[in-house]
Amino acid sequence: MYLASSSGMDGFIFNDYLREQVEYVNRNLLDFIRVNAQAGRLPYHVAGITEQQLTTLHLPSLSSEKQRILRTPVLCFRPIVSTAREFALLFDEGSQLSHRLQSIANATPNYPSNNEAAIRVRYENKRYLEMLKTVLAVNHTAAPMLGLSTEIAEMIKAMSLVKLHAGTSKWHFPLFEWRYQGDSFWHAVTTNRLSEEALAHFIMQTCFDRETPTHPPKTNKRIGKFLQELYSEAMIRMGARPSTINALFLVPTNIAKRRYTEVHGKAATTGKIPTGNAYYTQSPAHRVQSSTFVWLYRHGLRSSENVYEATISAANKCSLLFTVNPLLHCDRAAVLAQTFLKFQNLHLAPCRKCRTPYVLQSSGDKIELQDFFKCPCCTNMLKYSSDAGSVKKRRRSRVSAGVED
Ligand SMILES: [Zn+2]
Repeated sequence: MYLASSSGMDGFIFNDYLREQVEYVNRNLLDFIRVNAQAGRLPYHVAGITEQQLTTLHLPSLSSEKQRILRTPVLCFRPIVSTAREFALLFDEGSQLSHRLQSIANATPNYPSNNEAAIRVRYENKRYLEMLKTVLAVNHTAAPMLGLSTEIAEMIKAMSLVKLHAGTSKWHFPLFEWRYQGDSFWHAVTTNRLSEEALAHFIMQTCFDRETPTHPPKTNKRIGKFLQELYSEAMIRMGARPSTINALFLVPTNIAKRRYTEVHGKAATTGKIPTGNAYYTQSPAHRVQSSTFVWLYRHGLRSSENVYEATISAANKCSLLFTVNPLLHCDRAAVLAQTFLKFQNLHLAPCRKCRTPYVLQSSGDKIELQDFFKCPCCTNMLKYSSDAGSVKKRRRSRVSAGVED
């Protein structure tokens, strides 16, 4: 018996409603910053974006690459403070502001509370925090998509809406800033080199706790029949082979095959699940997509300590980030997750230049030493847009990823 509804999957699948929420807020907050910065009511440095950069995102004929920044279901804004301690200061009565928050408060014009500009700042802060709380309540592994550290996300989840609203009414400056502030991001934008892989690099680079802990949970959590069916249904909808479903959830292969045919209207790919570790780092694009999956997977483990949900959640989010040339089919992703769980042959290490975490080979024919490792972005290996690939090339990639026969 399989579940017909997808409602139980919202905790780990980023649904259409959440994607729309993120895109809407991206466009709305960017518009708020543009209007207020141009009117002199908001210093550009407080917003984390320059006048020229705002203009770059406001051309009437915005290219599809630049639109990707706003349309990818990742929030282009993050909290104005990076630590949970500073974030708590925003909501605690009578607390002393940190040096950074005090300098932001001093730099931003403080209008009377009934002034239209002051009302608009309070309104946008309220909407921003409400959206964070709503998305986190529905999808508990969404923190990296929202530019939040795990600690700040847990704090927002635990805080009541009344306290969040009370906090927003105190401040005359935005509680959010533009997420992608590095020169390399804007260089990629202005030179039309912001491929999906390049954007994924900047998403990882701009997360406050990008260096996730290296210790995995001790064991795979035991799950009951309901969750077994829920997780296997989610994996089948993502196109997982019956052999993957059997290996992960012990669902008989013939049942998984039948369900796959019901969902996709065709027979499932059969055969051995690809397990070669060299695949994950064989090109810069493979390395970025694999690293993004592992990065999301580890964030998922921090939120739920459930390896199945963390695996499905990370594979789902990767499918939203890499639509042009997807290289990490969920069968491959499941193997990668298990490899990292057992610390076998691959490990995650920061680039020695930008500190963004990447997957490195640690055994076999190719051993990569993290002391010498520079990521594909820092070595200028992501300069070509993934959009440039032809349909034929995409199909070849999908076949090699195990999506098609
Ligand atoms: Zn780097």
